[in-house]
Amino acid sequence: MTERVVIIGSGPAGWSAAIYASRANLEPLVFEGALTEENRMRGTLPLGQLSLTTEVENYPGFPGGNLTQYLETALPESQRQFMAPHGGHGVTGPELMELMRQQAKNFGTRVITDDVLEVDLSVNPFRIQPLDGEAITAHSIIIATGARANYLGLPSEEKFKNFGVSACAVCDGALPRFRNKPLVVVGGGDSAMEEASYLTKFASTVYLVHRRGEFRASKIMAQRVIDNPKITVKWFSGVEEVLGDEKLGVTGVRLKNLQTGATEDLAASGMFCAIGHSPNTDFLKGQIATDDKGYVVYSQPFRTNTSVDGVFAAGDVADSYYRQAITSAGTGCMAALDAERWLAGQGVH
Ligand code: NAP
Repeated sequence: MTERVVIIGSGPAGWSAAIYASRANLEPLVFEGALTEENRMRGTLPLGQLSLTTEVENYPGFPGGNLTQYLETALPESQRQFMAPHGGHGVTGPELMELMRQQAKNFGTRVITDDVLEVDLSVNPFRIQPLDGEAITAHSIIIATGARANYLGLPSEEKFKNFGVSACAVCDGALPRFRNKPLVVVGGGDSAMEEASYLTKFASTVYLVHRRGEFRASKIMAQRVIDNPKITVKWFSGVEEVLGDEKLGVTGVRLKNLQTGATEDLAASGMFCAIGHSPNTDFLKGQIATDDKGYVVYSQPFRTNTSVDGVFAAGDVADSYYRQAITSAGTGCMAALDAERWLAGQGVH
C-alpha cells in the first residue's frame, strides 16, 4: 500500500500537519523519531526541541499561571463554558507536545516511533527507509524534522554533556548545580544574548565568550548584555577545554585569547553553547534544495513546496530565523493544506 502523506518529525510542525491531514481523511503516517541514546545526546528525541523546555508562556491559548483563575478573570460568567485543563500552571513544552500528539492520534494519525534513515525522492511514489523495518512508499511527504543545537565539538564538552554542559539555558538554567555559581555562555548571536541574560537570574556571574570583537546579535539585545552588571564579555576568546571531574561535572573552562594566544582558566559550574542550530536534514542526502547551512528552501514565497514536487517542509527544518512553536505549527498546517491540494491535483484523495 502506498501512503498518501508521510510526515517525518514530531515537533509542533509535524503534529499540526498531522492534525490537518488526518482531518482531511488522508490518514497520515508520522515517523516521530527513535528513542535512541544517540538521539538523546544530539537533542533529537521524539517530540522535538519543545520537549526539552519547561513552561511555555508564548503559545497562544495557553496563558501562564493559574488557567482556571485566568478564565474567571478574563471571561464573564456566562461565557465560561469549560473548565481549564490545567489547574495550577500554564503549559509545559512536553505537555504541549503530548497534547498535540494525542490530538493528531484522535483524528486517525498513525505513529511509528522510529527514525527515517533515508528517502529516495527521485522515484514516484517516494521511497522511505526507516532505521528498523521495511521501506514504505508515499505519494507525498512533509518534512518536519526540526533543528538541533550546535556544540563546539570538543571531547571534554562531550564528556560533560548533562553534567554542566548544555545548549539550552531555559531547559537547564534553574538546576541546582547552576545556582549562585559562575556560568559560561559561548556565542555572539541573539541566542547567546538571550541565554546570558536569562542565566543571570540564577548565576552569581555570567561570562559571555565570543570569538570576535563585536556581536552578531541585534543592537538592542547586545546592549542589554553590555549593560548587565552580572555579565562579563570575553572578546576574541574561544573555549579550548571544558574542565571538570567525574564527581562534580564541569568546574570551569580554559579560554584561549584568539589574538594573543594567551590562555586563562575560569571557574564555572556550567557552560552553555549558543552557537546556532543545524537542521536535521542529513537523511535527505542532497536530494532536495537546501541553503548553505542545510535548511530546506521553499520553492515559492508563502508556500511550503520544496524543489521536489510532492514534498513539503514545515517548521525549523526550513526556518533558521523565527524558530518558534507557533510559527512551526503554522507552517505545519500550511504544509498539510499544500499536500492535500497537491494530492487532489494528482487525483489522489
Ligand atoms: P547565529 O545568529 O547564527 O549566531 C551564532 C553565534 O555563534 C555567532 O556569534 C557566531 O560567531 C558564533 N559561533 C558559531 N559557531 C561557532 C563556533 N564554532 N565557535 C564559537 N562561536 C561560534 O545563531 P543564533 O544566535 O542561534 O540566532 C539564530 C537566529 O535566530 C538569528 O536570526 C537570530 O536573530 C534569531 N533569534 C532571535 C531571538 C530574538 O529576537 N529574541 C532570539 C534568539 C535567536 P560569529 O558572529 O563570529 O559568526
